[in-house]
Amino acid sequence: MRIILLGPPGSGKGTQAQLLVQRYGIVQLSTGEMLRAAVAAGTPVGLKAKEIMASGGLVPDEVVVGIISDRIDQPDAKNGFILDGFPRTVPQAEALDDLLRHKHLKLDAVIELRVNESALLDRVETRVAQMRERGEEVRVDDTPEVLTKRLASYRSQTEPLIHYYSERRKLSTIDGMMAIDEVTRAIHRQLLALGAVEPKSHARSAAKAGPAKKAKAPKKTSKKPAKAAKKAAKPAKSAKKAVKGAKKATRKTAKKAVKKTAKKAVKKASKKSPKKVTKKRAKR
Ligand code: AMP
Repeated sequence: MRIILLGPPGSGKGTQAQLLVQRYGIVQLSTGEMLRAAVAAGTPVGLKAKEIMASGGLVPDEVVVGIISDRIDQPDAKNGFILDGFPRTVPQAEALDDLLRHKHLKLDAVIELRVNESALLDRVETRVAQMRERGEEVRVDDTPEVLTKRLASYRSQTEPLIHYYSERRKLSTIDGMMAIDEVTRAIHRQLLALGAVEPKSHARSAAKAGPAKKAKAPKKTSKKPAKAAKKAAKPAKSAKKAVKGAKKATRKTAKKAVKKTAKKAVKKASKKSPKKVTKKRAKR
């Protein structure tokens, strides 16, 4: 499953992405996180991004597109991913379409978390206070001034993506003002409706398959990694089989019911027609 989470800063994209990762065993690709890591490591990309990020501006499209393209190619992204904070501009969305086409990958859905802007400032202030309480380092761009600038750049450069994906019939909008678990449930329902995830059994086995594969990572030295991967994928297969079986059974029962009704109709018809004849005859 490949999805995009769209929403202004403070809308809960990061929180929801983490919950979806746990549920479906896919990875979260956050350009913000990757850029912060690059800044911390002092890489050339980090050096380019540092000032821009601190002021609340957007890092050049080609930089983030390059990062995402490389990241999608990593083995852990094969099972699917959630893009969080990317794309942020229409050219980035076009570049993503191109690179997914080249990689023969399909985007399942774009989930927009719609929030009340006046609540965003409160949310960010709460988040900062909680981080300070936990003794965690607070992001340099998590100040009311920088947030105002980030919101402005969201409105002018990212919001057009709502139209972009809505035109391509990819957009689902969810009320991001609900409680965290309600938002998660609404996203799950939406993914089910779109056919991006299969009912419960699959969601559970996918979630299991993720960590299970990770747990098997130390066996990388094993001579038969393909076999191990197949083994890890087995529960998903059996779940699929079960769904297929259930579908077949439902189809069979439906067929039987149709046959029965048809037989009944024929019987009724054959019973009715002589009656009509006798009535007509009696009239004559
Ligand atoms: P985030 O953690 O998603 O709020 O991102 C933090 C900062 O990283 C943003 O304010 C931008 O400066 C930069 N950034 C993250 N993602 C992108 C992107 N897709 N395009 C441009 N800049 C980005």
